[in-house]
Amino acid sequence: MAGFTVAIVGRPNVGKSTFFNRLLEQRKAIVDDVSGVTRDRQYGVAEWNGKSFNVIDTGGFVPQSEEAFEKEINKQVMIAVEEANALLFMVDAATGITDLDESMADVLRRTAKPVFLVVNKVDNHERLLEATEFYGLGFDNIYFLSSMSGSGTGELLDAVAELITEENVAALEAEGVLPKFAIIGQPNVGKSSLLNALIGQERTIVSDIAGTTRDTIHTHYNLFQKEFVLIDTAGIRRKTKVHEDLEFYSVIRAIKAMDEADICMLLLDAEKGITAQDLNIFSLAVRKGKGIVLLVNKWDKMEKATNTARDYENELKKRIAPFSDVPVIFISALEKVRIHKAIEVALEVYDNKQRKIPTSELNEQMLKAIAAYQPPVVRGNPIRIKYVTQLPTHVPSFAFFCNFPDDVKQPYKNYLENQLRQHFNFTGVPVRIFFRKK
Ligand code: GDP
Ligand code: GDP
Repeated sequence: MAGFTVAIVGRPNVGKSTFFNRLLEQRKAIVDDVSGVTRDRQYGVAEWNGKSFNVIDTGGFVPQSEEAFEKEINKQVMIAVEEANALLFMVDAATGITDLDESMADVLRRTAKPVFLVVNKVDNHERLLEATEFYGLGFDNIYFLSSMSGSGTGELLDAVAELITEENVAALEAEGVLPKFAIIGQPNVGKSSLLNALIGQERTIVSDIAGTTRDTIHTHYNLFQKEFVLIDTAGIRRKTKVHEDLEFYSVIRAIKAMDEADICMLLLDAEKGITAQDLNIFSLAVRKGKGIVLLVNKWDKMEKATNTARDYENELKKRIAPFSDVPVIFISALEKVRIHKAIEVALEVYDNKQRKIPTSELNEQMLKAIAAYQPPVVRGNPIRIKYVTQLPTHVPSFAFFCNFPDDVKQPYKNYLENQLRQHFNFTGVPVRIFFRKK
């Protein structure tokens, strides 16, 4: 969703849909029936003071069991936090603070995005007096209103509209189409140093979207006549419990940055090599269909002989197998060695990820490769692959049409993937292969 997005979260029956409908008035909402557990999720575009923004009503739940319920609610909040630029956390003045409110507040207090605590059903003066208990939830922006009558909604919307500046909207829209690179890696691997090295030399636009601080930092760049967005978590340090949880949060944030990115620039420490944690992050990126570039940082600290880099790269590729068609670049963030090369390669991987092979060319190469090495016969049935097409997906995906799709096994898939990689450049990009019945 391009543009500024506001999500309404809160437990069932606090009045989210009532508020949502008031906001949208006659406008048509798009209803997205997410799952059996979740009530309809609604999207719409609202307008206030001449500013328009997306609104998500995160819906409610059909309670199944107590635990499933709470888990589902917290998941809803998490998704809303990911998707939105600002959150309206709605509570109910008629019932007061409930355990579920507390539990949602715990999740919401952790986001860096603006949260507005909306105390609904403040229909009269007595309710307003009672509603002061909600200050106890610990949010600075608190609004008392009645969705039913509409009283108090104007002040809230004024405050929301203040966040929506032309700059913010332009930045969000631009981001929708620019390549996004995430800089990820373990603490102390050199993420901040790399970022500083890049910013120091080539800063053109640095936009920290005001008022919509995220758990990750997005920076617009213009290098080599190419524009892109760098996503990093480097500067963010949790205030509390930094020590015991540093490792844990670094993984959580790496995953967030990864989710928002097209390409992951995974930083490794040259002296430590690739750790088990790095491998977890790597395989997660593969599963999520992200492009990957491995940056071996602190290369300045290594003793080098003739083949050091080559041997190092070979060793690394063994560790990341089977997906080893990944660029490896030896950099020094400190001495600013090959840091632009890293960006250049990330842009190449981005192009590879976007690559669409014309069907005729794809069939010409792949049918030849299949003729040269046929799939093994299963239960006496020869498997005949008739043709292949690339699917219109974000991750390069190929469907091979054949007579017995279920009988094609992994080794043959690997063969086809290797052939695809040999004939077409998919370096750094996971490729998916499917067999379909012809
Ligand atoms: P949701 O589950 O959070 O989407 O809640 P709904 O919007 O479905 O509202 C739940 C109930 O609260 C409905 O019966 C609404 O009519 C009622 N309600 C919503 N807003 C107000 C309000 O401002 N005042 C009062 N008294 N009732 C409200
Ligand atoms: P972050 O936690 O991943 O952001 O890591 P930092 O950028 O804060 O770097 C951690 C430490 O490694 C700092 O002392 C840096 O000076 C050092 N460092 C970062 N990059 C390099 C490099 O390329 N070479 C050397 N020798 N030290 C580096």
